[in-house]
Amino acid sequence: MAAARNACVIGWPAGHSRSPLIHGYWMRRYGIGGEYRKEAVRPEDFAAFVGSLAARGYAGANVTLPHKEAALALSRPDERARAVGAANTLWLDDGVLRSTNTDVEGFLASLDAAAPGWDRARTALVLGAGGAARGIVFGLLERGFAEVHVANRSPARAQALRARFGERVMPAAWPVSRDLLSCAGLVVNATSLGMHGQPPLDLDLAPLRSDAVVADIVYVPLVTPLLTAARARGLRTADGLGMLLHQAVRGFSLWFGVTPAVTPELRHVVEADLLAS
Ligand code: NDP
Repeated sequence: MAAARNACVIGWPAGHSRSPLIHGYWMRRYGIGGEYRKEAVRPEDFAAFVGSLAARGYAGANVTLPHKEAALALSRPDERARAVGAANTLWLDDGVLRSTNTDVEGFLASLDAAAPGWDRARTALVLGAGGAARGIVFGLLERGFAEVHVANRSPARAQALRARFGERVMPAAWPVSRDLLSCAGLVVNATSLGMHGQPPLDLDLAPLRSDAVVADIVYVPLVTPLLTAARARGLRTADGLGMLLHQAVRGFSLWFGVTPAVTPELRHVVEADLLAS
């Protein structure tokens, strides 16, 4: 049987995902003669759907809300997906359904690209303790950060990250103190604050060191008020679109056997779509 050349994103709803745009661009660019589709699948139908991926002609799939935990439970996860407790990418490996969480590498790779040497810092401050923050905290620990301070409006969720990942994770007060900001080499906004329709993130960057790097994973708008303030201070920054693009690389390579490049042209394609919506 010829290898399946299709993939999809499974969500409920699936309407807002940018994955078809990104993977569709790469499929044309690399001459993969298949389709990347959106599949709107209800939670109660998810297990049957992923159980029939091969029969539906899929080499694998992205998984978005609300299925990421079910995807983990229904597959053989790698270490990252297991550690984060959620899977966003599925692939068939000799008939076995496997999974990973590519938000971790998407975040790390976007910082590598936007601010080379960023991981020389030893102390990071992550704002937020939701689903995305979990992958980011794990990625920072994997890169060897000695202290990852996590400030979250609901303190119990920051405590839960320490319980999950260990003592290098340090729950911090919300709002963030000036002292903590002054010792962080990396600040990451992993809350939804600053996103269109949400309140802004109220954070005075004045105490930050001049070599600190500021990352925002929010990508609507592309340039958040936090990034604008960081750039005004002359700090290096990484935006949320970088993470979104880099997290897509691994799935494409697992499904189609080609490692795609995150290029300025791809960025422009997705930026234009974000601006138009
Ligand atoms: P979750 O709902 O899991 O977490 C939301 C986080 O934001 C929590 O820490 C929550 O705090 C905090 N928060 C929300 N509202 C407020 C508020 N008014 N004041 C203080 N804190 C607040 O969402 P995700 O982790 O999945 O996503 C977070 C953001 O990251 C979204 O904007 C999403 O679009 C973006 N994202 C970007 C990705 C990329 O590739 N660039 C990938 C994944 C997500 P609390 O726990 O107290 O509720």
